[in-house]
Amino acid sequence: MSSLSIHNPATGEKIAEVPADDAASVAAKALRARAAQPAWAATPLAERKACVERFREGVERDLEALAVTLTRETGKPIRMSRNELNGLLARLDFFVGMVEPVTASETVWDEDGMRERIEHVPLGVVGNISAWNYPWFVGCNVIVPALLTGNAVLYKPSEYATLTGLEIARLLHQAGVPEDVFVPLVGGGPVGAALLEQKIDGLFFTGSHATGTRIAQALGSRLIKLQLELGGKDPTYVCDDADPRAAAESLADGAMYNAGQSCCSVERVYVHEKIHDAFVAAFVETVKGFKTGDPLGEDTYIGAITRAAQLDVLDAQVADAKARGALLHLGGQRLPGPGNWYAPTVFSQVDHRMELMKEESFGPVIGIQKVSGDEEAVRLMNDSRYGLTAGVYTPDGERARALLSRVNAGTLYWNCCDRVSPRLPWSGCGDSGLGLTLSTYGIQAFTRPRAWHLRQP
Ligand code: NAD
Repeated sequence: MSSLSIHNPATGEKIAEVPADDAASVAAKALRARAAQPAWAATPLAERKACVERFREGVERDLEALAVTLTRETGKPIRMSRNELNGLLARLDFFVGMVEPVTASETVWDEDGMRERIEHVPLGVVGNISAWNYPWFVGCNVIVPALLTGNAVLYKPSEYATLTGLEIARLLHQAGVPEDVFVPLVGGGPVGAALLEQKIDGLFFTGSHATGTRIAQALGSRLIKLQLELGGKDPTYVCDDADPRAAAESLADGAMYNAGQSCCSVERVYVHEKIHDAFVAAFVETVKGFKTGDPLGEDTYIGAITRAAQLDVLDAQVADAKARGALLHLGGQRLPGPGNWYAPTVFSQVDHRMELMKEESFGPVIGIQKVSGDEEAVRLMNDSRYGLTAGVYTPDGERARALLSRVNAGTLYWNCCDRVSPRLPWSGCGDSGLGLTLSTYGIQAFTRPRAWHLRQP
């Protein structure tokens, strides 16, 4: 059997070597999941819910050790790893609390001896290919409602978050989910590709647009449910009546949290010319206050860049912005290793000729563009192939509503950013994806409605 080496991106050190899957083991696991799924679907919902509740207890019990593992394999600052795990607990509560009302069968017609009912049945065996940046969140957004609704799950964590993926598996199995019902697959792209070859009833993917479209093409002739949660280039507009300092503090956090490696990181900022200079000054001052360093340090705000390859993307965006006349206020280069480090970087005087304002940075790099007013801001916010989130900062709720309703995005923020709620659907327009997770819709996504026509004899 082959193996996968895991490295700490903050130090470059190898921290683990784990057995990896290959095409043959993926095929064997898929067959076992197929055989195990009917019994799981027939397990009373109360028992499936009890499994997730015991999983929650395990996460809460082991939270500190799980946070350290996540920090060591991704370079995420330890406080943010704890935040992710604590946030997960609330998501689990939501799923457990809502699965019954959302998937209960309902009679929608009952007249003259004729009854019509809708029943929600599991899809069957679903594949989940996942990302590394919030592996607990993006993994469990799929895994947990899929299991609660009676599916078996073949789960391929990112090769950059495999230890966390294996911890998810350990805790689910300890909580009573059968080993053939929740099945981790270890490895990189080829193992994900092998999963696509199996007989599956749905594929739920979180990752880049490039991989997402490759997966869509691979599954093109297969009529199975496909969801793609992809990247973004999320814009925010700060209006002339906003408090520049308050907006700058909020948006600096939205751009730099987790070193900008969030799908909903603020990636483009447009500021009304009246308050532009005050905003930029406050933004730069806020970012200067963020401590970069050892991800295990309690006061660290900016940790390592998880994938070394992303450093090249950041370098290229920075060089292109400089060459096209952007004004660099802070950062603009890698930090010395070992490990993968990038200085928090702030540009103003940017425009849409620059890659920095067009393609996902997925790092601690941000461009701030001056605009003359609301019309220009809306036009620029929509000038993107992505559409994950968008925000407006203004005290005027009506103005925010009017502006945001014209922006193509799955999620809209008024005076906030970089925020996800279990109660709201998480979805993207355009190249940000297909389908959704979270909310009641994100539970139903793992079922198929079945229609019953019942005539009383
Ligand atoms: P990625 O596309 O590089 O990898 C994602 C997964 O796909 C990994 O598990 C990888 O092993 C697998 N994979 C790679 N090639 C494959 C192939 N040919 N067939 C099948 N599987 C394959 O993305 P990443 O670097 O892990 O994640 C970062 C990206 O994810 C960013 O673009 C980010 O915006 C996006 N993201 C989106 C959301 C969202 O909710 N919309 C959430 C988190 C991350």
